[in-house]
Amino acid sequence: MKKGATQKDIDHVAEKLRSVGAEAHISKGVLKTVIGAIGDKESIRTLPLEAFPGVEKVIPILKPFKLVSREFRDEDTLIKVRDTTIGGDYFTIIAGPCAVENFKQLIETAKAVKKAGAKILRGGAFKPRTSPYSFQGLGEEGLKMLAEARELTSLPIITEVLDVRYVDMVAEYTDILQVGARNMQNFLLLTELGRINKPVLLKRSFSSTIEEMLMAAEYVVKSGNHQVILCERGIRTFETYTRNTLDISAIPLAKSLSHLPIMVDPSHASGKRDLIEPLTLAALAAGSNGVLVEVHPNPQEALCDGPQSLTFADFEKIAEKLINLASALNRKI
Ligand code: PEP
Ligand code: MN
Repeated sequence: MKKGATQKDIDHVAEKLRSVGAEAHISKGVLKTVIGAIGDKESIRTLPLEAFPGVEKVIPILKPFKLVSREFRDEDTLIKVRDTTIGGDYFTIIAGPCAVENFKQLIETAKAVKKAGAKILRGGAFKPRTSPYSFQGLGEEGLKMLAEARELTSLPIITEVLDVRYVDMVAEYTDILQVGARNMQNFLLLTELGRINKPVLLKRSFSSTIEEMLMAAEYVVKSGNHQVILCERGIRTFETYTRNTLDISAIPLAKSLSHLPIMVDPSHASGKRDLIEPLTLAALAAGSNGVLVEVHPNPQEALCDGPQSLTFADFEKIAEKLINLASALNRKI
């Protein structure tokens, strides 16, 4: 739409699109509003869209992903989570244990990571474990602990939702819902998350292409939730020294293809504590909008992912380096 287009002009275009059976996705930027028309091309073509008041131009999007593409929205999407902003020039540090084990472990970690510079607390209550005999998480009890930790530290929280049956329950407690790598193409779950009015952090599957990740994000956005954060967490390659291989190029690529924020999870990408610092600094330098790292009061005793979890001292050291690098790169942290 043109710069000066009125709400009436916007509503008129949306109404006309709906009258031919298309969806109208309205995205309001600082300068301009963009209306994404999703539907049958031939039916949409019957509308003289360019002649409607307030319309600047009509651009067909040829990529398979539409609403998440840069063509649809030129401006970076900024996502507000309480007092924290994700996207654009911001670099957001998310830290916490792999799994919530008990309240003491969680609150000690929350306080330590907050003091060092983390803006959001992570912690799994429902854990997707390779073995059914491994610790599966505390479930709703864990969600309650996360909410309590937020009360005490005022850090917003992020936690994984494993299944459609738990979307409402998890959304009730958390600030951001995480979709894990194993669920990236769980299309029913993605569609269900489209109905929630809370941000979704979508992790790239270890066996998916960047295009498949963007198509997965498209499911959430098309279903009505525009607040999606992408996350590169390593992909499977022939390399065995690391748990996965961090695909650094996914960051600038996703940023050129999509307006959505993208973050990096160096913990699951490497599986190794000693690699977290170089990978985290590389992620910031490559343009990532943040990192998601695992921290534990006593990694040797962690019920999940101990070898890749940072101690409080490790985390503090890395956070300090990130703050210095962000300032050298003119990024907001
Ligand atoms: C996690 O972040 O807790 C997790 C299970 O990660 P991923 O889905 O990337 O394996
Ligand atoms: Mn983990």
